[in-house]
Amino acid sequence: MKRFFQFLFMPCEGYTELISASMDTDLTRLDRCAVRIHATFCKGCRQYRKQIMQLRIMLRSVDEKMPCIESMQLDDQARSRLLNALNQEMSNDNRPVDDAD
Ligand SMILES: [Zn+2]
Repeated sequence: MKRFFQFLFMPCEGYTELISASMDTDLTRLDRCAVRIHATFCKGCRQYRKQIMQLRIMLRSVDEKMPCIESMQLDDQARSRLLNALNQEMSNDNRPVDDAD
């Protein structure tokens, strides 16, 4: 019980660490309870938890919509356009100084 009261009077930094940890791992029952009670009274930690949850949902959404970069392949036409653009860019960088004016 003493440990529980220590949790209740923990500074917000401790709660934000627990909230962040809860996104990746399951908190103990004591941690969950302490976070809920603290969040009931602390608007800042409630807001932090809400933002972390929204960020997690957004990242999950992006991850589902975007193909994995390793699986992306360029077709021959796109590869050719990219090479031409790179070659042109490189030739512009190497042009004589007189041509720059
Ligand atoms: Zn707080």
